[in-house]
Amino acid sequence: MERTKFLLDERDLPRAWYNINADLPAAGIQLPPVLHPGTGKPIGPDDLAPLFPMALIGQEVSTERWIEIPEPVLAVYRMWRPTPLIRARRWEKALDTPAHIYFKYEGVSPSGSHKPNTAVAQAFYNAQEGVRRLTTETGAGQWGSALAFAARQFNLELKVYMVKVSYHQKPYRRVLMETYGAEVVPSPSPDTNAGRSILAKDPENPGSLGIAISEAVEDAAIHDDTKYSLGSVLNHVLMHQTIIGLEAQKQFELAGEAPDILIGAIGGGSNFAGFTFPFLRDKITQGKAYRVIAVEPTAAPSLTKGLYTYDFGDTAQMTPLIKMYTLGHTFMPPPIHAGGLRYHGMAAQVCALYDKGLIEARAVPQTAVFEAAVHFARHEGIVPAPESAHAVRVAMEEALKARERGEKVVIAFNLSGHGHFDLAAYDAYLAGQLEDYDYPEEQVREALKHLPQIRT
Ligand SMILES: *Cc1c(COP(=O)(O)O)cnc(C)c1O
Repeated sequence: MERTKFLLDERDLPRAWYNINADLPAAGIQLPPVLHPGTGKPIGPDDLAPLFPMALIGQEVSTERWIEIPEPVLAVYRMWRPTPLIRARRWEKALDTPAHIYFKYEGVSPSGSHKPNTAVAQAFYNAQEGVRRLTTETGAGQWGSALAFAARQFNLELKVYMVKVSYHQKPYRRVLMETYGAEVVPSPSPDTNAGRSILAKDPENPGSLGIAISEAVEDAAIHDDTKYSLGSVLNHVLMHQTIIGLEAQKQFELAGEAPDILIGAIGGGSNFAGFTFPFLRDKITQGKAYRVIAVEPTAAPSLTKGLYTYDFGDTAQMTPLIKMYTLGHTFMPPPIHAGGLRYHGMAAQVCALYDKGLIEARAVPQTAVFEAAVHFARHEGIVPAPESAHAVRVAMEEALKARERGEKVVIAFNLSGHGHFDLAAYDAYLAGQLEDYDYPEEQVREALKHLPQIRT
């Protein structure tokens, strides 16, 4: 019998997250310090304490290789984990490729993506330290719905500042968050100073992730019982996501082969890191020859067109400064872009690995992304989230290269979520309304003029 699904028993759930910071020095990487937005000096735990619980601040700066997963977090993970590793046999046949294609499917989580892997951990540590209420921002709603689910598991209240255009144009993710019991307001809102000052100038402001972050951070900073939660970019987030790659390594043992190429889409870098970092550990410490590819949209090409320098995490310049590949914190994604992954920067670890040549990056245009996603859906049945579809595209490109060369390579990609709430984007693609967009070099240069001046 030809096996298609490689499933682990609940008992085989990994018991510790992997922290790549422990192995970066072996790759010759010294992560640059995170700097205070006001003073430009390296930040310490006290600077972060108003926003995050101490356990997560500890993980953020930890150099321990393994961080034990608390039992209450494992108990929630068991609701859907381990997730399946699936061999895309029908898609391989349709592509007529000698390549073997595997995907790790994170769309089986309650909110439909990888994001609950960190949302559950973050909600747990906050509840354990006596926090009563969380705030966060969300764009289209993937992160907000993951945190709404997780907050409910640990009896925390949650207020979500949702970018106003999405609030009105994408009502179903809002309904999902409210179904889980979260309060959702369109951002800019009249509930914070940041929101009020923007509304005073421009009552019709459509909102942005940058503004929503400012509102959520302000709300957490002024309420003693409230902390803030972030869904990507930070080290503790990447670490929580490594459960994906750790499971996948055990599943490849079941499959009796090893991947040659590992692929993930990158927004802030968390699902890519979660899937590939355990394999990169073997590349760094054992010299394994994996090719690891991060995929981004040509409309928001941080790694392939950005500059490796210090920048703010948000538009309002409230977050600490991180050295990363950035398009500039003033970056505005083009309105025609339907594929997600709109963040201007990238997780520091992902950037450092790219800078050292341990991973590759590829930018793909959105019509090619949806073309691959539709082809994949027609053969494998799963409709990928537009973000995940960037990885689908590059898996397809590599499978077609293998066909040209008559080479049997093993390709593995992370299918980070399903696209059931993104059918409007599929509708636009199927109606021929999507256009490709290359973020212009001049605009990158212009945005980079507004970067903070840090001497390194
Ligand atoms: C949020 C999201 C992403 C992008 O975020 P990362 O932190 O880069 O993983 C990718 N895929 C899905 C399904 C998402 O919801």
